[in-house]
Amino acid sequence: MCPGADAARLARADHAGESEVEGSHPRGECARISMFQRILVANRGEIALRVIRACKEMGIGTVAVFSEADRGAHYLDLADQKVCIGPAAATDSYLEIRRIISAAEVGNVQAIHPGYGFLSENAHFAEVCRSCNIEFIGPSHEAMQKLGDKVSAKQIARDAKVPLVPGSDGLVSSEAEALAIAKKIGYPILIKATAGGGGKGMRVATDDASMVTGLKQAALEAEKSFKNAGVYLEKYIERPRHVEVQIIADHHGNALHLWERDCSLQRRHQKLVEESPASTLPNDVREEICKAAVRLVKTAGYTNAGTCEFIVDLENRFYFIEVNARIQVEHPVTELVTGIDLVKQQIRIAAGEPLPFKQKQIECKGCAIEVRINAEDPANNYRGSPGKITKLRLPGGPGVRLDTHVYEGYTIGPYYDSLIGKLIVHKPTREEAFACMRRALDEFRVEGIKTTIPLLREIFVNKDFIAGKVDTTYIERTWTQPPSQ
Ligand code: ADP
Ligand code: ADP
Ligand code: MG
Repeated sequence: MCPGADAARLARADHAGESEVEGSHPRGECARISMFQRILVANRGEIALRVIRACKEMGIGTVAVFSEADRGAHYLDLADQKVCIGPAAATDSYLEIRRIISAAEVGNVQAIHPGYGFLSENAHFAEVCRSCNIEFIGPSHEAMQKLGDKVSAKQIARDAKVPLVPGSDGLVSSEAEALAIAKKIGYPILIKATAGGGGKGMRVATDDASMVTGLKQAALEAEKSFKNAGVYLEKYIERPRHVEVQIIADHHGNALHLWERDCSLQRRHQKLVEESPASTLPNDVREEICKAAVRLVKTAGYTNAGTCEFIVDLENRFYFIEVNARIQVEHPVTELVTGIDLVKQQIRIAAGEPLPFKQKQIECKGCAIEVRINAEDPANNYRGSPGKITKLRLPGGPGVRLDTHVYEGYTIGPYYDSLIGKLIVHKPTREEAFACMRRALDEFRVEGIKTTIPLLREIFVNKDFIAGKVDTTYIERTWTQPPSQ
């Protein structure tokens, strides 16, 4: 029994009667659910700030957690309470379940928002939260488990009649099996880790010899990074585009899509630029890919916000690759074109509310584009560039949204992800959105550290990108020189 359980239950009971929603709770705990009074944000940086802002607008109290490395970050002051959860190393703080649960108990919260990365796709964490009577703002741990494992997600996609990249039916258990599959589908083949994420744990095999060495390396890398050595094979689709569908599902049987995002501009399988709508996708394919995503999440019994990722080949055939069972870095793009606040919806769904709209009401208006600003040095092979921001001039004006936790004088440590902010623009047309992005990137000045801004400036004057003629390998193929500063 979790010591905080009674307090959480009491807190709920105390506020019964306020903003109640009729209906049965998905886990059958109580018939009437009231909105949370207080939420803990189990994350840091820009996404922690994003969630705190949503809570404030909803009148929900917040508890922020921080490691010693983040002590003094300004965004922490925006929360109603802040709790230190340990030293800088993520394994001892942001990934340390016991400390986060203790902070939740100290803060007397009824729910935890995990953000992205860290514990957001950890099914065990979701289960622990709920066993402590704290709502996890995300899918059930069962659905997360089924979809978090890529091989099992592909099986569900198969059941939902969603097209898959040809490859192994499940994990590959031997060299001989891998070579037999290669004979059938032909090289190049991608060796992928079933527990993979963040662009890690992938290897391309171009012949039998590289398959044999690649299998060993991929399994070792997967074991090291994800503590799961399972790997599977997929035909390596040449020059694909990455298109993903935002979905949202409540506990009342409603599952909807919020259209798609094109995230083809990547470096080392990590997204750099995301836009909605996907400018090159024919309308019928667009309808089909969105419907396929909804079928998939319905089949999985998935709830809350999530993303179905696909790759699209040169003939506009699409293939499912994975589900991200959480809010994504690029969610603002979808928020701008649909006008729907995804984080608030996540919270409402977790509190048991039904979705307030129907599929037909979700429109995709105009064009939104996001760029990720990373503290990396493009001239030094994009190595992380920690340090103090000595000067900062932020872009603004019509059509510009900036999601960042940094400020002049802020020091970026070497411990976490290099993302320091996201610049998002929204305009009626793609052309106008590009002009707005160029202007905003020109305004943006960061001194003291190196960032990806110079690369992004070059990208937005690139003729191929303007024409929509890029794929996931474009940057590596064409940007052989670092951008000029
Ligand atoms: P998105 O599409 O939201 O960018 P990513 O897969 O890039 O999704 O993951 C979002 C964040 O979480 C990134 O900061 C990434 O580095 C981190 N991340 C995702 N999965 C993992 C993982 N399995 N291990 C470590 N970090 C991860
Ligand atoms: P992660 O969990 O690391 O995000 P994904 O399975 O989503 O892994 O793949 C990440 C990226 O790798 C995709 O966006 C795409 O660029 C590339 N990729 C994945 N699968 C394939 C494939 N079968 N063929 C070609 N590229 C692929
Ligand atoms: Mg992915």
